[in-house]
Amino acid sequence: MSQADSASFGPAGDPRMRGFKARTDVTELASWIAARIQTLASEEVGIAEASGRVLAQDIKAGAPVPPFDRAAMDGYALRGEETYSASAYAPAVFRCVGRSQPGRPCEPSVAAGKAVQVATGAPLPRGADAVVPVEATRSDGRRVMVHEAVPVGRNVSHRGEDIEAGAIVLGAGRLLRPQDLGILSLVGASTVRVVRRPRAVALVTGDELLPAGLPARAFQIPDANSVMIAALAARDGALCQIVGPLPDDEATIEAALQEAAGSADLILISGGSSAGPEDFVPGIIARLGRVVAHGLALRPASPAGIGLIGPAELPVVMMPGNPVSCLCAYDIVAGPIVRRQAGRPGPWPYRALALPLSRKLTSALGRVDYARVKIDQGAVEPLSISGASILSSVSRADGFVIIPADCEGYPAGASVVVWCYDEREQAAPCRPEALGQSPAVHQSTRNAHQTPQG
Ligand code: AMP
Ligand code: MG
Repeated sequence: MSQADSASFGPAGDPRMRGFKARTDVTELASWIAARIQTLASEEVGIAEASGRVLAQDIKAGAPVPPFDRAAMDGYALRGEETYSASAYAPAVFRCVGRSQPGRPCEPSVAAGKAVQVATGAPLPRGADAVVPVEATRSDGRRVMVHEAVPVGRNVSHRGEDIEAGAIVLGAGRLLRPQDLGILSLVGASTVRVVRRPRAVALVTGDELLPAGLPARAFQIPDANSVMIAALAARDGALCQIVGPLPDDEATIEAALQEAAGSADLILISGGSSAGPEDFVPGIIARLGRVVAHGLALRPASPAGIGLIGPAELPVVMMPGNPVSCLCAYDIVAGPIVRRQAGRPGPWPYRALALPLSRKLTSALGRVDYARVKIDQGAVEPLSISGASILSSVSRADGFVIIPADCEGYPAGASVVVWCYDEREQAAPCRPEALGQSPAVHQSTRNAHQTPQG
């Protein structure tokens, strides 16, 4: 695939029982996603619901914040220059002519030799230019003795000092943080336009699967992927509905895909995308639309792919059933699509750490490796159990290292970038004894290294 908008790419034909003849380059697939997947339209939400949403408009302050000059401390408002000679031994004496309280207009004004008692947030009285903190005063009710000099402007919060009228306070594309909601309120926004949350459907297939959470029984295993996919998609801004587990039955899967296509912005289908006789998914996608890529130069998750179905060309991500491959397919293929739709394009939502390898990390030329690693005493340790079915390997891992397709790996001691699953150190590590490993030592050094990613 050389043009990002080419109709389709990757190996043609049915790989069942024959395997993949050629595999799509992961970097090219990432370019296709970036060029093809659009951010969804916006919707209006109340600011109390806006945290974690992506702004779809610039927010401009219509008025200055704060809207009036106000006291920044409890104390007395006065003319600062009249305190310049004040000290503990020779206090400056003022006549207290009234009070200014928060939320009310201030009637008294300050003239030479006068002070007004003020509370934090109350309007600054006319004529005053400084506030002396109550701790630097004594008062007998009528008189205030000031025993510290306060420069003009001290402890006064000026109109517009926080936000100037007309300023863009938050730009379109911003992932709103809790403190941003406070800003929205201060500039008078009660609702904001945010990118609509993508509606994702996690469609899980496999004759051997029991619904997530049920105990395994005679040759059947609980579905591990739906809950994992739904959590990942929710983290990336989607609302995810789980459908299944469905049997490996062509008509059932096709009907479920068609039904999901009626309401979803994106379908993430687990299982049935490989090269076994029961792997119907690519064929169904080809019938309902077209397969864009199937079979990636990626380990694990080589059976992953993307299709577009229906007149709206709804993206469908084919994710291998093996849970580790499924996670890798999410990180490389599905996550970038969810985040683009949600208005959160850009780097992975993982913390990047550059650390030395404790031993060599090898890879085959021609494919991208998603190598799970542990961080132990500041060094990166490749996990030896790397089979795609060993989900505990990713629970035990602190993160992953991406080995690009044109690289055979790295020697011991080389600095590599680890994409950490956790945002910060875990208070309680996963039970390493149960997984046969010693506890990981987490590092917190940050860096901004760039590594190819989806
Ligand atoms: P498939 O991609 O359908 O060929 O499945 C590959 C392997 O992953 C098989 O061993 C399946 O039993 C297993 N598997 C498939 N789907 C799931 C799932 N949702 N949860 C846990 N294991 C699965
Ligand atoms: Mg299967």
